[in-house]
Amino acid sequence: MDIILETNNLCKKYGELKALDNINMHINRGEIYGLIGQNGAGKTTLIRIIAGMQYPTSGSFKLYGADYGTKAMDKARRRLGGIVETPALQQSLSARDNLKAQSILCGCPSSKISDELLDYVGLSGVSNRCVRDMSLGMRQRLAIAVALVGNPDFLILDEPTNGLDPRGIIEIRELIIKLNREKRITVLISSHILSELSKLATFYGFIDNGRAVQEISAAELHDKCKKKHVLFVNDAIALSAVFDTAGLNYKIRENNTVDVFGDVTADALFDVARSAGIKITDLRCEEEDLESYYMNLIGGRK
Ligand code: ATP
Repeated sequence: MDIILETNNLCKKYGELKALDNINMHINRGEIYGLIGQNGAGKTTLIRIIAGMQYPTSGSFKLYGADYGTKAMDKARRRLGGIVETPALQQSLSARDNLKAQSILCGCPSSKISDELLDYVGLSGVSNRCVRDMSLGMRQRLAIAVALVGNPDFLILDEPTNGLDPRGIIEIRELIIKLNREKRITVLISSHILSELSKLATFYGFIDNGRAVQEISAAELHDKCKKKHVLFVNDAIALSAVFDTAGLNYKIRENNTVDVFGDVTADALFDVARSAGIKITDLRCEEEDLESYYMNLIGGRK
C-alpha cells in the first residue's frame, strides 16, 4: 500500500517544552487515520507542521514521497485540504460565496464546483445563508466543503466535531466516511473523543506528551481490545500492591472495582487475591473499549 505521509523523528520545541518528541508516523492511502491524544498531547502542532503552518525544530517528513523543505513538497501540499483549529470561513459571506472565494484562491473559479460541493455536504438548502447565521454543525460541513475546493485526495481535520451536538457529530462522521469511500480521500482526523473516532477510523496513532506511543490498525486494535476482568473486592488499594508484585496490568475504578487487562485467568486472580487475604466478591468478563485501551497504553493506572 502507498504511504501518503511518513514522519521521521519529527520534533518541535517551544522553548524548553518538547511539544513533539521524535514522532514517527505513517499514513497509508485510503485510511481514515485517527490521531488520538489528550489535550496538549501535540496533535495540533503535528498537523500544523504537516500543513506547512509551522516549522519542525528537527526531523523531517515526506508527503506523497516528497521530502520536507523541497519544491516537490509545495506541489504535494496542493493535494492536501484541511481544517486546522478554527475553520477559515468569512462570517459575513454566504455559504456559496465562501466557496466561490476559495475557488478563486485555488485558481479554479466556478459556480458549478460551489453548487456541487454544497450539495455534497448537504448545504444546498442554505447556500445563501450567511455563515454567522448558521449552526456550528453547518459551519463545520461548510468548512469541509471549502477544504474540498482544490479537489484534494488527503484531508486533515483537527478535532472537527469539537463543540457539536450529537446530531452534528453524526453528520460530520457520515460525511467523512462518504468522502473516504466515494471520493477515496485519505483522512487524518485528530480527536480526544475516542469513542467518536472508533466509529470511523481504520487506523490509529496514539500520541502522549509529544511522543508517538503506538500505531495500530482498527482490526488489530479490535483483536487487542479483547477481554478484561472486572473485579469487585473488599480492598482495592491493598489488592493493587499485590497486583504490582505479580506484574498484572490493572486499573482501579471507584467503589473497590478493579479492571484487569491481559491474558490472565479468573482462577489466577482469585489465587493472587486470596494469598493477600483480599476477598473478591464478584468477577465479570468485559470487552475492553478503546478508551480503556488508550488509558492502559499511556499508563493510566491509578
Ligand atoms: P488540544 O487537544 O488541547 O488542542 P493538542 O494535542 O492539539 O491539544 P498542541 O496544541 O499541539 O496539543 O500543544 C502541544 C503542547 O505545546 C502543549 O503543551 C501546548 O501548551 C504547547 N504549545 C502549543 N502551541 C504553542 C506555542 N505557540 N507556544 C508555546 N507552547 C505551545
